[in-house]
Amino acid sequence: MARRLAAGNWKMHGLRADLAQVEALCAAPQPEHCDVLLCLPATLIDRAARLAQGRIGLGGEDCHANTHGAHTGEISAAMLKDAGASHVILGHSERRADHGETDALVASKVLAAQSAGLTAILCVGETLAERDAGRTLEVVATQLAGSLAEGADPARLVVAYEPVWAIGTGRVPVEGDILAVHAALRADLVQRFGAAAADIPLLYGGSVKPENAAQIFALQDVDGALVGGASLKAADFAQIIAALN
Ligand code: 13P
Repeated sequence: MARRLAAGNWKMHGLRADLAQVEALCAAPQPEHCDVLLCLPATLIDRAARLAQGRIGLGGEDCHANTHGAHTGEISAAMLKDAGASHVILGHSERRADHGETDALVASKVLAAQSAGLTAILCVGETLAERDAGRTLEVVATQLAGSLAEGADPARLVVAYEPVWAIGTGRVPVEGDILAVHAALRADLVQRFGAAAADIPLLYGGSVKPENAAQIFALQDVDGALVGGASLKAADFAQIIAALN
């Protein structure tokens, strides 16, 4: 069975002063039954890793598909690892929308991240129009298959289901819909990776808050959460961690 994971995604938020939140999270009693991870802007990872001393994990929010080279402004997986990251979010819907990232590009980033020793947190999720058209399962299945190239390593993989319309909106799918998508993702992963698929954490993301976390975590095949806004303050994120623990 997959180990539980509470992962925060700070997105484009966070200056050095905000590392006080990392300190606060590290000072709190650590949960026994779940791992805690903060995916931070790259500028903060090195400092956060020094503060955390392994008490929580750190991740990046994206990386380049190449190992190095003439790619001004980009960050490689090895650079994230070197700064102290263990994970990297890939294929987040904001990157798919803002930067036109395709499944094929995300697939090459997953391979790059894994070969640098990082665990890839692969994000999939439908838009509202796709949901309204009844295409949710088809969309996430296509994204999952297209984002995992030959050679992808199930031991360095987390999959996050993040419906685009639930991100930052306060709206959350009904329980039956989360259940259906997570069951479908697990089945696809089993078909792809066999027994190893059971250990791949499946996270739900999209308006997870202290108030709804326990209800979401009670669902089958929900092994944790990818949390945006509610991960910015240690007090809020700690409540979500407690609900998962
Ligand atoms: P919110 O928790 O702010 O809805 O963001 C979710 C998300 O996009 C995490 O990657």
